[in-house]
Amino acid sequence: GYNRVLEIHKEHLSPVVTALFQKPLLLHQGHMEWLFDAEGNRYLDFFSGIVTVSVGHCHPTVNAAAQKQLGRLWHTSAVFFHAPIHEYAEKLAALLPEPLKVIFLVNSGSEANDLAMLMARAHSNNIDIISFRGAYHGCSPYTLGLTNVGTYKMELPGGIGCQSTMCPDVFRGPWGGSHCRDSPVQTIRKCSCAPDCCQAKDQYIEQFKDTLSTSVANSIAGFFAEPIQGVNGVVQYPKGFLKEAFELVRARGGVCIADEVQTGFGRLGSHFWGFQTHDVLPDIVTMAKGIGNGFPMAAVVTTPEIAKSLAKCLQHFNTFGGSPLACAVGSAVLEVIKEENLQENSQEVGTYMLLKFAKLQDEFEIVGDVRGKGLMIGIEMVQDKTSRQPLPREEVNQIHEDCKNMGLLVGKGGIFAQTFRIAPPMCITKLEADFAVEVFRSALTQHME
Ligand code: PMP
Repeated sequence: GYNRVLEIHKEHLSPVVTALFQKPLLLHQGHMEWLFDAEGNRYLDFFSGIVTVSVGHCHPTVNAAAQKQLGRLWHTSAVFFHAPIHEYAEKLAALLPEPLKVIFLVNSGSEANDLAMLMARAHSNNIDIISFRGAYHGCSPYTLGLTNVGTYKMELPGGIGCQSTMCPDVFRGPWGGSHCRDSPVQTIRKCSCAPDCCQAKDQYIEQFKDTLSTSVANSIAGFFAEPIQGVNGVVQYPKGFLKEAFELVRARGGVCIADEVQTGFGRLGSHFWGFQTHDVLPDIVTMAKGIGNGFPMAAVVTTPEIAKSLAKCLQHFNTFGGSPLACAVGSAVLEVIKEENLQENSQEVGTYMLLKFAKLQDEFEIVGDVRGKGLMIGIEMVQDKTSRQPLPREEVNQIHEDCKNMGLLVGKGGIFAQTFRIAPPMCITKLEADFAVEVFRSALTQHME
């Protein structure tokens, strides 16, 4: 029973991971956008694990591809050749612009970003890496140096592994990160951000230049950016900011890395990759989560020159990366995204839902901001629209729990865990989007009573 599960969990599973809900969900089964708990209750999954189940839980095409490969060959390590890896490499490369065509397969987003850091250092002959305040690039000792959100590296004795990371003091939450964003919401109502928002891009660029010239001087190796910050609560950059930042980094010999772990594979709707929404071409792209629809799989894609620079400096190896099973799953995921027009669906249902959620901002004093792109939406909760202080954690948690009890699972993010995150599998319908908005409206109404 449920209580026994709680006991085993407490005794044998590490307390370093906290459950998403106050009363943790014991999940039993999933089908597409639906999850079922052990008692048979049904939930609409609007968080996809954590932005991972891209095409739907246990999607029949992906399951069939996995089963076929399971009966044939699961594993060889990367020192052997097999057809699934070559088929997959060709398919993935076709989705990226030239000269991004050399692929290294790994198993997680952290591993991918670790490798991207090594590449940046090998290629630039420099050491320092820049990431943003509010960034999340992983939890490995190396990537922890790039991660700057929440409590991920609070009090580790002796500090963290990679000390050379500089973080410009930009994109503060709450409210700080969504200035003048390129969002369809603005077409129906006024920009909700601070009066000085239109200067935001120039201010951020000045801060960025400051960091480049003072903190890293001329020794920059690389610059990491999520096209939209995910864990930080769906935080978008001012229009044009990333393009200018890329130019500044390159002028100093650094390479630019797009972390597409959350934003890739069509989730943003208008484009297959998040970097395309900023009109930039990265030197390295890292991807994970949605790439395997929940199967452990990740990739680093770069240019032939950068790949060569790394090979000159070191040998790199990963036992499980690029296994036949992972590649078969990855190929099936790409096929489903294309066959079922899931990128187009993200665009259509995402925009539809964003506009509906945006109305809640007018209806409720505690809804401070609604933002995002495609099926990556953030709803930032505040005490009131004047103070813009984050809604206290207990209140956010209560609303979150109430949504769950009405059959809707959403995520949370941001420095104060004040932002609800909506990132469903890309197969959802407008009817399900309506359901989610109505559940949310009920939870907010209940909260205000
Ligand atoms: N980058 C981003 C943008 C992420 O959101 C995450 C995971 N939340 C990671 C990297 C790390 O991925 P993983 O947990 O697979 O190591």
